[in-house]
Amino acid sequence: MKCKKCGKEAVVKLRHYNLALCEDHFYEFIEGRVEKAIKKFKMFSKKDRILIAVSGGKDSMTLWYILKKLGYNVDGLFIKLGSEKEVMPALEKVEKLAKELQAKLMIEDATQYLFGLSTFEAAKILRRPTCSFCGMVKRYLMNKVAYEKGYDVLVTGHNLDDEASVLLGNIFHWQGEYIIRSYPVLEKTHEKLVKKAKPLVLNYESDIKLYAKMRGIDFLESACPFALGATSKVYKKLLDTLEKDQPGIKLQFYTNFLKLKEDLFKVEETRKELVLNSCEICGYPTTGKICSFCRSVENLKSRLEKLKVNPQQKA
Ligand SMILES: [Zn+2]
Ligand SMILES: [Zn+2]
Repeated sequence: MKCKKCGKEAVVKLRHYNLALCEDHFYEFIEGRVEKAIKKFKMFSKKDRILIAVSGGKDSMTLWYILKKLGYNVDGLFIKLGSEKEVMPALEKVEKLAKELQAKLMIEDATQYLFGLSTFEAAKILRRPTCSFCGMVKRYLMNKVAYEKGYDVLVTGHNLDDEASVLLGNIFHWQGEYIIRSYPVLEKTHEKLVKKAKPLVLNYESDIKLYAKMRGIDFLESACPFALGATSKVYKKLLDTLEKDQPGIKLQFYTNFLKLKEDLFKVEETRKELVLNSCEICGYPTTGKICSFCRSVENLKSRLEKLKVNPQQKA
């Protein structure tokens, strides 16, 4: 098996692209796909100040590595979702990579907003599904930090498998609005909403993992401190099954959707359709009057009071 680019002995065979590559050309190929997504979807330029949310998992860690390598101005943000002990395995890996990349790393403590509780404990008291509550808290705080520190773009490590499976789930439930609005870039549609981008959308999850291992990026297998992972893995599994039978279908499914969308709608318009208000408590964007973050904090406070726990003591 020879590398398609240089003819040297290939070390990887990517079935979904029907492509065999040597080590160097594999790196070049993966990094090239990140650059392609950045340009194609007009995510950001070398002049922008970029903030990346890093969890310690393979996707965000690899993306940080690649963006730095490509010469982008990108700082890291780690959201502390639980106690020191709970987050330490992830934080150690993130700090190690920050040092290697000589990059700036910020840490935002979510527990300070949750009366000292972890997102796991707070979700339990609020009787909310942990992953969706945790996701909401992360999105809120990532945007808050990016806004307060004046960043131009906030990037996350969502990969092709993530995006394709979310799209498939939305199609199964015919979530029209989500389907129409789904795009690798979310523009700034509110004063306190920072532009968001997902530069890994053209890369398969398995390729990212392979890249991270070959490059020696030390990541955590499960970056979730509560070891739950995503709850809706069923669409991912479904796509994996299809992929085995029809290599490349995941990529086609997602990119053909984006093409169709651009043909059917004027993307610019549909992306700005959603009217955002300012939360009456914190001023950050919300579709209602009070954002779900503030609503959760209020609920948590009253439940804790009912439980006769003094929030001040816990904090
Ligand atoms: Zn080669
Ligand atoms: Zn709010």
